[in-house]
Amino acid sequence: EAKRQGKNRYCIYDFALAMEFNERLRIERSLKQAIRNDELALEFQPLIDLQTSRVYGVEALCRWYHNELGMIPPDRFIPIAEQSDVIVDIGSWVLRESCRVLRGWMDSGLPELKVSVNVSARQLTDSRFAALVSRVLTEFNIAPEQLELEITETALQANEQILRQLEHIHKSGVGLAIDDFGTGYSSLSRLKELTFDRVKIDRSFVRDLPHSSNDIEICRAVMALCQVLSLQVTAEGVENHEQLDMLRELGCHCIQGYLFSRPLRPELLADWIRQTDIAAVLR
Ligand code: C2E
Ligand code: MG
Ligand code: MG
Ligand code: MG
Repeated sequence: EAKRQGKNRYCIYDFALAMEFNERLRIERSLKQAIRNDELALEFQPLIDLQTSRVYGVEALCRWYHNELGMIPPDRFIPIAEQSDVIVDIGSWVLRESCRVLRGWMDSGLPELKVSVNVSARQLTDSRFAALVSRVLTEFNIAPEQLELEITETALQANEQILRQLEHIHKSGVGLAIDDFGTGYSSLSRLKELTFDRVKIDRSFVRDLPHSSNDIEICRAVMALCQVLSLQVTAEGVENHEQLDMLRELGCHCIQGYLFSRPLRPELLADWIRQTDIAAVLR
């Protein structure tokens, strides 16, 4: 009986694994066509400055609407895209589309915003990346200060070429943020070597605030570090007022999370900014 059960379980596991493998293969194959078929879309999530009670910017987040598999979240397809040069094409599309949307908002009279774009390590190892950034900014007549690039710690670890390219981009006025801070391979010397503007505290450290004393101390330490290095801090994943109050008490400058808004399609985000009284939500 036990043996039969064991065998059944093995079969189920095997089946799940086969499904997983099959889906992964399909994703890999159709990713290449996703851009050409116009299946990618961006959503934007507001970034709130607690000192001014204003939206200082938005983060661009990629979505993939697959004709058979439906909406595939970035956590599912970005890691697969990162295993090949497909991520370079996706990344270029995201950068250009973000700037195109930002230009549209400005033309429609929305107050000036920063747009924050996630960048993968593989994009940065491509020596043409810096040129792409400046070309896109020129194309849509966007000031470099209105663009911020989000890079994970793990991507920074990669190599010297990446650091040099980032340095070059930063000198042109584009902002740099370390994303998901605390979850990757942290090298404090990287923070010092490279002139970053911002650290984004990963939402795993925000989730259990204000109840987890460990997370409180981690956030406090990050805030202290960022103060010494004159870095802005944005906390991700703020979903309720308890978390917000604790982050404020710890001296956090900026926040992002469902408490304000989920990521929204461009038109909806513009409406949201026009209609929302941030100060009232913060109260
Ligand atoms: P990320 O850059 O850390 O982006 C923040 C993620 O947290 C987003 O997930 C956002 O929807 C989610 N989030 C924001 N506020 C809350 C909250 O209050 N509660 C919860 N539970 N979640 C919240 P999303 O859009 O699914 O993206 C996941 C990750 O995929 C991103 O994490 C980023 O690493 C990657 N990604 C998304 N778009 C791109 C892209 O264009 N290029 C690259 N390279 N990576 C991307
Ligand atoms: Mg990000
Ligand atoms: Mg993040
Ligand atoms: Mg994160």
